Amino acid sequence: MTDCIFCKIIAGEIPAKKLYEDEDVLAFWDISPQAPVHFLVIPKKHIPRPVDVTEPDERLTGKLLRIAAQMAKENGVEDDYRAIFNNGAKAGQVVFHLHMHIIGGKGRPWPM
Ligand code: AMP
Ligand code: ZN
Repeated sequence: MTDCIFCKIIAGEIPAKKLYEDEDVLAFWDISPQAPVHFLVIPKKHIPRPVDVTEPDERLTGKLLRIAAQMAKENGVEDDYRAIFNNGAKAGQVVFHLHMHIIGGKGRPWPM
């Protein structure tokens, strides 16, 4: 996806502060953090939205959760983080490459 900002980060075409990378997954700090710890965990495969995940993606999406937990532990928020996927523009999705927000270290300021 040449016009996808997260694919460009994966390709190294635009910079990001990376926490973790392997052949399937990349984690990097959110450029506009909403809490003391706020990073994104993405698959290297371009999947636009959560609703576009299919059965062959099950292992990959499970891995997102596991890597997110590992990075949360390494950054001291294993007892205080939320994992959020926005799906669709109406729900606030701005970047249409699947990503899990890990937002932690702030207690629970959200109503939901
Ligand atoms: P969403 O609203 O769920 O699509 O979230 C997209 C997130 O990507 C936002 O929290 C942005 O701050 C973040 N973001 C956008 N561009 C970059 C970038 N170049 N590097 C890191 N985070 C980014
Ligand atoms: Zn992409």
